[in-house]
Amino acid sequence: MAHDVTLIPGDGIGTEITAATLRVLEATGVEFAWDRVEVGEISLAAGGPVLPEAVYDSIRRTGVALKGPVATPVAGGHRSVNVTIRKTLDLYACVRPVRNLPGIKTPFEGVDLTIVRENTEGLYSGIEHMVTEGVAESLKVITHKGSTRIARYAFEYARKKGIGKVTAVHKANIMKVSDGLFLECVRAVREDFPEIDYNELIVDNCAMQLVRWPQQFGVLVMNNLYGDILSDLCAGLIGGLGVAPGANIGDVGAIFEPIHGTAPDIAGKGWANPTGMLLSACMLLDHLGEDAAAARLRASLDAVLEAGTVRTRDLRGEAGTEEFADALIAALAG
Ligand code: ATP
Repeated sequence: MAHDVTLIPGDGIGTEITAATLRVLEATGVEFAWDRVEVGEISLAAGGPVLPEAVYDSIRRTGVALKGPVATPVAGGHRSVNVTIRKTLDLYACVRPVRNLPGIKTPFEGVDLTIVRENTEGLYSGIEHMVTEGVAESLKVITHKGSTRIARYAFEYARKKGIGKVTAVHKANIMKVSDGLFLECVRAVREDFPEIDYNELIVDNCAMQLVRWPQQFGVLVMNNLYGDILSDLCAGLIGGLGVAPGANIGDVGAIFEPIHGTAPDIAGKGWANPTGMLLSACMLLDHLGEDAAAARLRASLDAVLEAGTVRTRDLRGEAGTEEFADALIAALAG
């Protein structure tokens, strides 16, 4: 039976990598009944709202979505579509696995860590205002409930995946009350997971440790802002934003999407690397219980990357998005 899945192609390179990913998913033989919903620039251009209600209706019905990036205007303009969807559906856990891929040479080997980022509060709570002319204020909201459930998610993820270490990342030396509450909640949760090693790192030290010795980490759990920044840093450890997958998960459902943005500098050129979206699609297949298809797709992706003859420009190759998808489809068939 076909899987009912919401499809949000996004804008910028989102439409390009989504088209390539759909072709590859079709080649796996897994059947999908896609419920396609346009958002962002594409919806606006068609005279619709930036974020149609249909997105929520669809995900509440299907419980699962595959999504491309959606552009967020800098300073002014509409609110981030990505953040609004996550907050409205209370998709509180942002899960970003970071692992070396074959054939992609970086200064680091043996990187295998996962960032678990709190998605609904912290400095991204969106509560900002001008106090008076020339003075702006932004509120960082940390709650017992939000911190406890993200900590529990991180430890349960580690237990499920057999990962032996969880690191809580914070800045409680400066933000003693807010990050202090976060740490207090993580410490309470860790009592239920005695078999898992636990340590705490201040976020700036963590950034340094990540680029010195990333192999020391298993699962890292943190607030929204730290997670946003450190997950881009971690993508850099394994070959850049084009190869890093992610998922946003809550009680209502899960959205699988690459961690990068809409890459306006290369949008429309057909150059985007679809690997981050394809690995997000593998996470979707895992979630749907299509383990064999997920394993086959990951193995084919590894084979194409390792062969290195068809490579996108961000990995110093010359292939376009569709050419890369063609190579992957050939590998899946072979
Ligand atoms: P947004 O505002 O949507 O987040 P951005 O330009 O700030 O856009 P990204 O879209 O993540 O941030 O892009 C950062 C850099 O990484 C850009 O130079 C972009 O071209 C590159 N990049 C991001 N994703 C990919 C990809 N899938 N393939 C190739 N390059 C990418």
